[in-house]
Amino acid sequence: MLARRAAILAVGSELLTPTKVDTNSLAITEVLNALGIEVAAKAVVGDAPDELAAHIRMAVGRHAVVVITGGLGPTEDDLTRDVVATVMGRPLVEDPALVEQIRERFTARGLEMPESNRRQGQVPEGSRVIPNTRGSAPGLWLAHDGGVVILLPGPPSEMRPMLEGPVREWLIDHGAPAHLIRRVLRVAGRTESGVDAHVHPLYMPWAHESPSVATTILASAGVVELHLSAVTSDAEAGQALLHGKVRALQQLLGDDVVSVDGRSLSQVVGDLLRAQGATVTAAESCTGGLLTALLTDVPGSSDYVDRTAVVYSNEAKREWLGVSPALVDAHGAVSGPVARAMATGALAHSSATVAVAITGIAGPGGGTIAKPVGTVWFALAHRTASAVKAVCCRFAGDRAGVRRFAALTALDLLRRHLLGVPLTVDWRVPEAPDA
Ligand code: AMP
Ligand code: MG
Repeated sequence: MLARRAAILAVGSELLTPTKVDTNSLAITEVLNALGIEVAAKAVVGDAPDELAAHIRMAVGRHAVVVITGGLGPTEDDLTRDVVATVMGRPLVEDPALVEQIRERFTARGLEMPESNRRQGQVPEGSRVIPNTRGSAPGLWLAHDGGVVILLPGPPSEMRPMLEGPVREWLIDHGAPAHLIRRVLRVAGRTESGVDAHVHPLYMPWAHESPSVATTILASAGVVELHLSAVTSDAEAGQALLHGKVRALQQLLGDDVVSVDGRSLSQVVGDLLRAQGATVTAAESCTGGLLTALLTDVPGSSDYVDRTAVVYSNEAKREWLGVSPALVDAHGAVSGPVARAMATGALAHSSATVAVAITGIAGPGGGTIAKPVGTVWFALAHRTASAVKAVCCRFAGDRAGVRRFAALTALDLLRRHLLGVPLTVDWRVPEAPDA
């Protein structure tokens, strides 16, 4: 059985310039991961023999699976084959059948094979040829004690069919451990550290179980993601294992869990609206349409998005939504009463079931002691309910961060409202002025 860790080397001096990106290693990682092989390290190496030799030596010394792409062409700067032969102590030998195949590729196009292409017919002793159906550079598979070194050509159009065809098959034949199973759990309304403190005691022991389940936490504005992964020889058993873990996390996190099936916050809100036969309208001030963008990012959102208004000025709030200037004068544009009036105004000027309003101070200017930059009021009005809910939040970050955070929080508050659960989010200000 092959060990579960691999290294990837992307070879080519052009990949060390600012204009050319190594994309092959991503495609290789995807195939390896799907077979349960984790990539422990990767490197981009120029066309320099000593550099290449050092990297190959280290990779082969440390990892059972080493995949090298690039540098298999017929020209002088293509060194991979030679350096691998030297490092692995396998002299290059000409493979007559391979030379014939390469010659035939040229003959088929009415050309004579240049002598330089003969180099591509030389392979390190004992290697297996991986046929290239798109070009002349063959791939090579060098099994050695406890591992394998796989050489693939650089052009992605040639590399990919070889990777997804024979390389994948041969790795399975050689006992690749099988399956890497992943699940993602999305959580809203909580800080990354808060989520981690809450769930760490639960997931920490999973890493030491067999099969082990690895957990990582990723956060972006407003949404925290828990990524679970496990390597198993039985895909179904692996799915069942992670399913149980996801359930346990879900139980612990309750209403804060947005999805366990990869759906985004926008998708989940859309699905809730659709399931309730409801439609939504929004009145956005400081987010300038970001909430609308998030809502309408989802294909098919015309089923439940009615119309929204960006009402930046006080006149717009008055003319479009009927927010009275007296209310703005009394409480300020960023206040609970104005947010509420925006939501009821939006509802009155649409046919939607539910309205979301956002008014806040994105900064960098405009903050006061009582209402510092990052203060944002949200309100939710429902056609069948008389009470309008209002929530004040305070977000850290620059203007872009506050705006994005506010738009995502509006979505999450809408999600909680539709679920009929309390609008409790970590950034809520409990004793807000002008409630
Ligand atoms: P080579 O096999 O070194 O002759 O590579 C031929 C061409 O393939 C290069 O000029 C690149 O355009 C492309 N290429 C090589 N390595 C990579 C890589 N890691 N990712 C994407 N493209 C690559
Ligand atoms: Mg090259």
